[in-house]
Amino acid sequence: MRPKLRPAAPAFKKKLPGPEMNKKNVTLRTGSVSKTYGANPVLSNIDLQLNAGEWLGILGESGSGKSTLLRILGRFVDADEGNVFFKEEILKPVSGELIPGHESIRLIHQEFELFPNQTVEENIAYSLRFYDADYKREKVAELLSTAGLEYVKNQKAKLLSGGEKQRTAIAKALAEQPDVLLLDEPFAHLDNHNRRVLGDAIEALRKQQKMSCIFVTHESADALAWSDRIAILRNGHIIQIGIPQEVYNQPINSYVAELTGDINWVERGKDKKACFIRPEKIKPTKHPEKSKWQGQVEAIRFHGNHWEIRCANGKEQLSFYRNKLDLEIGQQVFLTYAAKDLRSI
Ligand code: ADP
Ligand code: MG
Repeated sequence: MRPKLRPAAPAFKKKLPGPEMNKKNVTLRTGSVSKTYGANPVLSNIDLQLNAGEWLGILGESGSGKSTLLRILGRFVDADEGNVFFKEEILKPVSGELIPGHESIRLIHQEFELFPNQTVEENIAYSLRFYDADYKREKVAELLSTAGLEYVKNQKAKLLSGGEKQRTAIAKALAEQPDVLLLDEPFAHLDNHNRRVLGDAIEALRKQQKMSCIFVTHESADALAWSDRIAILRNGHIIQIGIPQEVYNQPINSYVAELTGDINWVERGKDKKACFIRPEKIKPTKHPEKSKWQGQVEAIRFHGNHWEIRCANGKEQLSFYRNKLDLEIGQQVFLTYAAKDLRSI
């Protein structure tokens, strides 16, 4: 149970006006949102829908408009055209208001806004300053534990590592129990270990508090691992939305195919149609009569959890993965794959 706030809520916590529609499952929605900076169109006709409890990953290269989109959704910047709806209520323009943001939507910027001279515990507790002391103590302890921050709870925020800052910022935002969390590149600049710690913390917090999240990233692995659905943003346009497997296996064009993972390009058919196949779909076979391709091993690269074997036959190159190293450079290989995995675009 969420106890009552002690003092009167600040002015911006008023219920926002807008039409009531029966779209219960949708928390946040954009209707043809566009934004231009100077002569530079940054976002064009963005139509997105975030369902209750959903984690939507937005994958795009640097400069594609990810941060601008999050700032519009978090009510820090106004769109030039189109609307943002929170539970089907139109968000009022933020320009002219003293306090940007929205009480139910929390945006964590790329540069987190922690109080540098306050401890981790104090930073999180700040979000709960209007609450009853017992509840506050309990909630802060719970968040410290779930976000894996107990060991640094008395550390000043300015002395934290990138991963610890990110986890503190998320815990601080979640203390307010927002309906929607917006994360701008949460995994950026983190080493492998800290990515995992942050990922585990987010997963635990996600289980504990029912909320929806939009996170943006330029790393396909993060988008594929953490999203219920992925939207691909390219030059301010959403060019594909789908569950991770769909976007990965059925990319709508070569751009999405290359953005989401390794691929081999080949030409097939009379008209030399461009086709692609993911390396993990290709297997070597000992039976030449069953193979679809043959060539020589040209290069072998070790990637920790697999070996990448690159082969060539004078016309084409194909790469595939092996768990163990049972091939050598110059060796003749016969490769096979399922016809359905060779996709034309
Ligand atoms: P991303 O987060 O995907 O890297 P951004 O949303 O930060 O992309 O930026 C998209 C484009 O908009 C870039 O070309 C950037 O230079 C431009 N841009 C972003 N914010 C501003 C601003 N306040 N004024 C002018 N141009 C901006
Ligand atoms: Mg950005």
